Amino acid sequence: MGLPEIKARLRKAAEDAGRAPESVELIAVSKVQPNERVEAVLRDGHRVFGENRVQEAAGKWPGFRDHYDGISLHLIGPLQTNKAEIAVRLFDMIETLDRPKLADALAKAMEKVGRALPVLIQVNTGEEPQKAGVIPSELQQLLQYAREKGLDVQGLMCIPPVDEPAGPHFALLAKLAKEAGLPVLSMGMSSDYVTAARFGSTHVRVGSALFGPRDYP
Ligand SMILES: *Cc1c(COP(=O)(O)O)cnc(C)c1O
Repeated sequence: MGLPEIKARLRKAAEDAGRAPESVELIAVSKVQPNERVEAVLRDGHRVFGENRVQEAAGKWPGFRDHYDGISLHLIGPLQTNKAEIAVRLFDMIETLDRPKLADALAKAMEKVGRALPVLIQVNTGEEPQKAGVIPSELQQLLQYAREKGLDVQGLMCIPPVDEPAGPHFALLAKLAKEAGLPVLSMGMSSDYVTAARFGSTHVRVGSALFGPRDYP
């Protein structure tokens, strides 16, 4: 599916939910995709992208930024504290804050680099042991901690369990954000971004539906 079709679907889903048609931002998830595919989307005028690995993003985005203005790059994968500084230099939003130590590292890196990036807290809505993210009952505590460190926490992000309907997870994330007074909701991927838009998503992270399948090593 191309960029125009995905954007049209998002607009329609937002309108169907009684929201403004442009209220859902499309994050094009370019991880593992060949540079030609990414560049085609850049040439079509799209500027908001997501990457899940710092190292991989560091290898390709500085080059793209030399040729295209106004790129906004979101980190959507786990971040190790020792990569916080590179991440703060490279990205425009960090979507995966999930522990106090990372809040410490990000706050320190942002001060050193002189960039105050917006941050989202990743919530493990399915409470899956192998998955990153803070569990819902610990969200408030982490939010408070991150704010004490001076981080600009704007919202929440989640990746629902693969084997469950996503709707209830989106509803839970929306409820948690509302209770915490946070406006940004990053939820929805290739298979469920229309559902996510109905549940109030402000950012959907779409990879394979836009770029084609990824060939993981
Ligand atoms: C890879 C990835 C996506 C995009 O997945 P698709 O199913 O290809 O759309 C979204 N969010 C995160 C966190 C990812 O790692």
